[in-house]
Amino acid sequence: MIVVMNEGATEAQIEHVKEKLAALGFGIHYSKGVERTVLGVIGQKSPGLLESIEAMEGVEKIVPIMKPFKLASQEFKRETTIVDVSGVKIGSSKLVVMAGPCAVENEEQMLLTAKAVKKAGASMLRGGAFKPRTSPYAFQGLEEDGLKILKQVSREVGIPFVTEVVNPRDVDLVVEYADMLQIGARNMQNFTLLKEVGKTKKPVMLKRGLAATIEEWLMAAEYILSEGNYDVVLCERGIRTYETSTRNTLDLSAIPTIKRLSHLPVVVDPSHASGKRHLVLPLSRAAIAAGADGLIIEVHPDPENALSDGPQSLTFDGFDEVMKKLEPIATAMERQI
Ligand code: PEP
Ligand code: MN
Repeated sequence: MIVVMNEGATEAQIEHVKEKLAALGFGIHYSKGVERTVLGVIGQKSPGLLESIEAMEGVEKIVPIMKPFKLASQEFKRETTIVDVSGVKIGSSKLVVMAGPCAVENEEQMLLTAKAVKKAGASMLRGGAFKPRTSPYAFQGLEEDGLKILKQVSREVGIPFVTEVVNPRDVDLVVEYADMLQIGARNMQNFTLLKEVGKTKKPVMLKRGLAATIEEWLMAAEYILSEGNYDVVLCERGIRTYETSTRNTLDLSAIPTIKRLSHLPVVVDPSHASGKRHLVLPLSRAAIAAGADGLIIEVHPDPENALSDGPQSLTFDGFDEVMKKLEPIATAMERQI
């Protein structure tokens, strides 16, 4: 349920309500919006509780949240959450483009890429140091050496980065380096991992599972939020369908659906959604037109020789062209890119 405070409720009144709820054993999540201050209250209700809280000074009303996801819901918070990743704001009118290779391969590759994508207008760098590969024989990533390269290059070029963490035992290590943690599609329902990243203070990009419904995806976000980490960005990266001509099928309707159900920002990954370089531009255009808050795009200095996902990676020139061609769509949506 949520406790909605009066517009003029004092800090002391809000504190008093929080103390009372805490004493009753509830988990409390605070949200101070432009329109209203609400307290999200998670726990088992007891008889007479609603009346006693509703009677407190400063309380306007108590509203039950009907959806299974609570803190991720529009009922809890109406305004879009703006997630600040080392100064880059995801969810604002400026679209955030994250770009870089699938996997970190070496320092030169990352340095060249970081410079090129920044120049073309990307505001974040991407690159995997821990790779969740379908085959155990495929390149698994440089692990901590990859994180070191990412950090070094990101500092040198002045661009924050997102990188995936695949194992709960590596969360502390990745937190030491990354500006944003990525939870990959294959781990969307790895609840131990979700709880672990929920305990950190790093922003998290949560990719949609290969066969996850929107509700399951929001429930996965709820795991992170319920641990106290509210900086969650959702990423639609295509779902598994019967269609084989693309790697996955981009679920465009997920974007406006999420916008209706949740306050969390949504970005789109046209690279993993399609698996094909030539589809990155049209899917990016469509994603922006559907209301996405940003994009994550794979870019490689030499896609033909990439250690992973070469066929869907753009060259530097290709990425530059995509960025230029997205401008009119962004403008039409009253956003900047
Ligand atoms: C990735 O972004 O590197 C990745 C592995 O994507 P996904 O988890 O969406 O397959
Ligand atoms: Mn990839």
